[in-house]
Amino acid sequence: MEAQKKTIAFIGLGAMGCPMAGHLIGAGFKVSGFDVSEGARARFAAKGGQVRAEVSSALCDADFVITMLPNGKIVRDVLLKDENCRSLKEGCLVIDMSSSAPMDTRELAGELVGRGVRFVDAPVSGGTKRAISGSLTIMVGGDGKDIDEALPLLKALGTQIFRTGPIGTGHAMKAINNYVSGAGVVATIEAVLLGQKFGLESEAIVEILNASSGKTNASDVKMKQFILSETFDSGFATGLMAKDIRTAADLAKVLELRLSALDATAALWEDAAKKLGPGSDHTLVARYLKDR
Ligand code: NAD
Repeated sequence: MEAQKKTIAFIGLGAMGCPMAGHLIGAGFKVSGFDVSEGARARFAAKGGQVRAEVSSALCDADFVITMLPNGKIVRDVLLKDENCRSLKEGCLVIDMSSSAPMDTRELAGELVGRGVRFVDAPVSGGTKRAISGSLTIMVGGDGKDIDEALPLLKALGTQIFRTGPIGTGHAMKAINNYVSGAGVVATIEAVLLGQKFGLESEAIVEILNASSGKTNASDVKMKQFILSETFDSGFATGLMAKDIRTAADLAKVLELRLSALDATAALWEDAAKKLGPGSDHTLVARYLKDR
């Protein structure tokens, strides 16, 4: 069967999931979507997506199941819930594109494989902008043949696709990436606060960092765009950043590594999520850092 004739159940149609599911429809796949939020379901329907009223009805005829949910615990709850689990077709391939915790992923994959369901983890980087343009970076962990089968779908969503190793390595890589990203956001904002206090212009600080060795993803695509402009609308929530960095810190603990900057960054983002609210845009951490 040609890949495009296959059916995809897409669970989680939020800021990332909705445009991603839209690209799969655009690539010719038959996509059934589900989200607990009525607004998210309506936005997907407006893109021409087929909305299902229950997860189980999306799963029952799916060759592929893509999850793009807030965290791995929700992925687990959704997939292992009795009626949902019974609905999974034998041999179907679950692709968890959420930023889930790698140890939990390995456990979940083991349980699914025991029920005749295959699994790869394929989290993404690039934010809502690159979800919309279909140019995400995707890191994929799993069996080589399963990844080969997932590739036509992943190519509709991203331009850089990396095979990271066995199941769970994609999720580990994503948490590691977001540790560096989150630490970079904090370092860049603190650098601007320091420079401003000494009398430097904030725009100039960002421009000079971008032309120097202090350039970060935050100085390049966040400072002027969302923070100095005070739009604070990057589309990535503070609670999600805190979760991802905590995932990296938990992984270090399991592996008996003491990484003090990672621990400090995880604690800072958790406190920021508490003070700003988990649903706030993560670029608002600038206000949190200024107020401290
Ligand atoms: P989001 O909150 O916009 O979307 C998540 C969606 O899942 C929501 O629409 C929510 O209603 C739905 N949902 C929650 N529980 C559900 C359930 N039990 N069944 C069905 N639907 C359910 O979040 P997002 O920004 O789209 O992020 C999704 C995932 O992608 C997260 O794991 C996040 O860490 C990761 N991610 C986000 C970005 C970003 O820039 N936003 C970038 C890379 C990775």
